[in-house]
Amino acid sequence: MKAANDTVVKITYQLRTEPNGEIRDAADEAQPFSFLFGHSNVLEGFEKNLDGLIAGNQFNFELSAADGYGEYDEEAVVNLDKNVFAVDGVVQDDMLFVGNIVPLQDQHGNPFQGRVVGITGDKVTIDLNHPFAGKPLFFSGTVLEVREANPVELEHGHVHEHGDHSHH
Ligand code: ZN
Repeated sequence: MKAANDTVVKITYQLRTEPNGEIRDAADEAQPFSFLFGHSNVLEGFEKNLDGLIAGNQFNFELSAADGYGEYDEEAVVNLDKNVFAVDGVVQDDMLFVGNIVPLQDQHGNPFQGRVVGITGDKVTIDLNHPFAGKPLFFSGTVLEVREANPVELEHGHVHEHGDHSHH
C-alpha cells in the first residue's frame, strides 16, 4: 500500500538542521513515528515527500525554513516580568535560566512554549519562535509500514495505537 490520504504511515526518521549536523529529533524502530496522512498532523512539505512511498522505501529530503517551521521572527522575542512565572505568588526561579523551555499561556488559556534567552533584574527575555524557525530541515528515514486508517482514526483525525488512547 502506498502512503496517501487516509493511510497511517509508520516511519523512522532523523531530523537535522544542517546537512551532516547533529540529530535534532528522531524516531527509531523501537519507537517509530506514526501519523495519519492528509490530516494536517505533520508539515505539508513532509507529507509531499512521503507521498506514494511504500514499506521499505527510504527517504532523504530537505525542506526550506518557509516550508518547515517558518522564518525567524525578531518580534517574537519578548521581555516578560518574572512574576509571569509565579506559582502561588512565588517566582519559579529554578526554571528561569538561559536555554530552558518554559510553559506559557495565551489570553485564552492555551498553552505554548518559549525559550529563555536572557535574564535581567526582574525581567526575563523569552524567544517564542519555534526552535527550528529560520532553519532548513533535513529529514531522512525509512517507511516501516503503510496501512489503511480505521474509521475512528479518520473521525478523530489522528492515529490510535496501543498506549495512545489516554487523550480521550
Ligand atoms: Zn483519537
